[in-house]
This record gives sequence, structure tokens and C-alpha cells, in this order.
Amino acid sequence: MASASGNSETACTLEFAVQMTCQSCVDAVRKSLQGVPGVQGVEVQLENQMVLVQTTLPSPKVQALLEGTGRQAVLKGMGDSHLQNLEAAVAILGGLGPVRGVVRFLQLTPERCLIEGTIDGLEPGPHGLHVHQYGDLTSNCASCGDHYNPDGTSHGGPQDADRHRGDLGNVRADADGRAVFRMEDEKLKVWDVIGRSLVIDEGEDDLGRGSHPLSKVTGNSGERLACGIIARSAGLFQNPKQICSCDGLTIWEERGRPIAGQGRKEPAQPPAHL
Ligand SMILES: [Zn+2]
Repeated sequence: MASASGNSETACTLEFAVQMTCQSCVDAVRKSLQGVPGVQGVEVQLENQMVLVQTTLPSPKVQALLEGTGRQAVLKGMGDSHLQNLEAAVAILGGLGPVRGVVRFLQLTPERCLIEGTIDGLEPGPHGLHVHQYGDLTSNCASCGDHYNPDGTSHGGPQDADRHRGDLGNVRADADGRAVFRMEDEKLKVWDVIGRSLVIDEGEDDLGRGSHPLSKVTGNSGERLACGIIARSAGLFQNPKQICSCDGLTIWEERGRPIAGQGRKEPAQPPAHL
């Protein structure tokens, strides 16, 4: 697990909506997280169908553990352990090819920004990930501009003093083409990147250490595969959504649907446990 700052990781609280109908559901949910390294606390509220998890794990991993009980789980918000409402943002990545992803940003402290998520459809191996200057997708990822660089420095790795602020290094896709990651960064602030874009690249970022002319510019990480605008999102308890106002899908129905396109409109198979 990457920690851009190189220091110990900071836990945050993840708020999940989980379908629970009875005490045995609560017990199953608790058991799914019991003793898992990186899980520091769990609070289950049956009446609210809510599970709060204090953790240093990436939210997709916690979601997978919860869904391992046979119940659907939807991440509704992220915040810090003291239940303050911190700045949070999300970028939904897409592009012309098969790469898709959801990446979340949470300002853990005034210094530390958490960046975590899942990106699918990648070639196995490392891929450069960067915040770019513009939230402009009019020419797909080509219009996102350069790496976010208000300091006028050269390209580097996330742990280098001399780097673009948008330089997040690499995330690594597994054999299935999926990258699940969590990193903490002290140069990036959520309030600075809202309205900009996040881009995942075809190749490995050489962190400014290569011999290629682009090394000090982009890390020579190749084509832009997918990108998304970084938009403000709900913090903890700020998302009262049960039914999506746009098309009447409940969060449970939405869970199994694409975020857009034809598949969203097709009738859902009711989950087996309902
Ligand atoms: Zn850069």
C-alpha cells in the first residue's frame, strides 16, 4: 500500500449503507471486519442500515469485505475519526477505451490528503496517476492540460521535494487489470484540486528519473487512458440519499448498474436476499 508521504497512515471513517434486516445481519457484518488488519473500529446501526468503519484500508477493500456477507454495501461518505466534516471530492474516470475508475479525495488533516479508489480495465503493472490542471473533457483527456503545477517546478515522484503538486506517482494493476490503492499526500489539498481533473496513464511514471526528454515533464508515462473531473462530494453523514432524484433508482438498485448509459435504464434483477 502506497503512502506518498512515507509516514504512517492516518485512519479515516467510512460510512456505508448496508442492507440489514435483523440482528443476525449485524452480527455477520461485524464478523466480516473482525480482526482485519487496518480496521480500527466498527459501529453498526441496524435502524439506519449504516456501518461506520474506522480504517486505513482503501474503501473498495472494506466494501468487498462487507459484501462478502452476501449483502450490498454502498459507500455514502468519508470523514475523519472525530466526525468532523472535512473536504471531500470524487473523480469518476472514463475514456475512449475500457478503463473506468472511481477515485476519492479526503482532506484528513490540514496537511494530509487521502487519495484512494479503484481503477479497472488496465494492463497489469504500474500506471502513472496525476492531477491535471483543467477540468475540461471537451476533447476527452487531451483537454485536461498539463500536470497541476502552480509552483512551476519540474516533474517528480510523490515523495520528492521537487515535483508537480499533481504528481501522485504510480498505481499498480493486478493480473485482472484492477488497481486498488490508498495513498496520503502532503502537497495536494482537496480545495486546490476540486474542478481540476485526474488522469490515469498507459505506462509507468519514471518519477522524473528517466533519460527520456519527457521524464522531467510527464514522467514519460504514455497516453492518457482515462480521466475525470474532480468534483466536491459528501463528507460523513452529508449524503441522505436513499433514492436517486434523477431517475428513481434506489441506492441498492444503482449499486449494480453502470453510472450512465443504456445499462442504467434496464430493469434490475432483484437481489436474491430481498
Ligand atoms: Zn508531473
